[in-house]
Amino acid sequence: MAVAWVHEWDEHAGSPGKYVVPHEPQVLVVNCGSSSLKLACIEPRSGRTLEHGLAERLGSPEATVTLELASGSRREGIAELDHRSALQHMLAQVQTQQLVAFGHRVVHGGEAFRESVRVDSGALAVLDALSSLAPLHNPKNVLGIRESMRQFPELPHVAVFDTAFHQSMPAHAYLYAIPYSLYEQHRVRRYGFHGSSHRYVAARAAELLDKPLDALQVISAHLGNGCSACAVRGGKSVDTTMGLSPLEGLVMGTRSGDVDPNLHAFLAEHTGSTLEEIMHLLNHQSGLLGLSGVSNDMRHLLELEAQGHARSRLAVQVFCYRLAKAILGLCASLERLDALIFTGGIGENAARVRELTLLHLSLLGAGVDARLNAEHGRSSGGRITRSESRLLALVVPTHEELVIAREALSQSNLQMES
Ligand code: ADP
Repeated sequence: MAVAWVHEWDEHAGSPGKYVVPHEPQVLVVNCGSSSLKLACIEPRSGRTLEHGLAERLGSPEATVTLELASGSRREGIAELDHRSALQHMLAQVQTQQLVAFGHRVVHGGEAFRESVRVDSGALAVLDALSSLAPLHNPKNVLGIRESMRQFPELPHVAVFDTAFHQSMPAHAYLYAIPYSLYEQHRVRRYGFHGSSHRYVAARAAELLDKPLDALQVISAHLGNGCSACAVRGGKSVDTTMGLSPLEGLVMGTRSGDVDPNLHAFLAEHTGSTLEEIMHLLNHQSGLLGLSGVSNDMRHLLELEAQGHARSRLAVQVFCYRLAKAILGLCASLERLDALIFTGGIGENAARVRELTLLHLSLLGAGVDARLNAEHGRSSGGRITRSESRLLALVVPTHEELVIAREALSQSNLQMES
């Protein structure tokens, strides 16, 4: 298949066989989630986001589409809009003339995908089969890929997996202590998620610290609506807090994170709930929302806490303590900790969460610099700990869409060059 922008040899690059791009290539990143859809038109080389689209509450009467286009911004309410129509609607409005590839976020790549892949019919069949591991997410991800391929069959479509980065975990980190036959027959194991983010911020930390990534041992805490922490050794994930699904591990916006597995039986017996209801409770009514009783939104909870709302304070405290405990657990996979990285909406913006978490990490020698922490490390290359602190903590803004755009570009090139 010919791709329009790959048509010149670089006479001057000094690396024979490499193609050059005559204009700045653009990649359309598609994130087709369980009830939302995000599009971003990105220049992978400069890192610039040129256009952006967000469709929310899809399939409900309150469905909305917000577009930030080069021609201007607008927001529309389109009741009952579904994923396919939302994608069609948005693709018709974003710039597509300079697109060289599509990058699709896919939540679960199972053990089949250790890295990003250019999608063909074989890959689509494997992706369909993986839906049983992520029934809320993968079918929507695949729908987004199929519809984009139907509309832009001439462009490469690359799937980038949340799980792929964690495929480097050793067996002692990814196995559950349950009968091994369940792993052999059903691939029940820990997979980990947020891989693009952990990978990106670890690499950014290496740049900020001016150290080679392969010599760096860090822990990154991605704290958004979903939250996970990951130990990254020499640029590779060696352990993470999420497991078979994104429910395991840290306290999140509406997800419980770790609970006693006997809780299911206890709730079934004492509340009469069905398995489906219990899963709904753990995924959508727990975490910060469940503890506070008012909100899953950390910014809101911190405001309420400052006004003296006791349950919001409790929710924030449990969140930070559990995060610190997980960070200490992840230290088991490292020889030393060169940096602790905070990222995601909470990690990048909530100074109080970072402060409370670091207070629980005195064992590691964490000494917070209140001023640097309050300004999110912006004047200090991300550093929020004092210069004499044994533990170095950094705030590193994540950019998952850029990782996906760069993966899409590089996987497309690999195909062209082979
Ligand atoms: P998603 O996982 O959906 O990408 P984000 O990474 O955007 O989520 O993170 C959303 C979380 O970040 C919410 O809990 C939100 O309250 C929190 N957050 C965003 N800005 C701030 C802020 N200034 N202070 C505290 N929390 C914030």
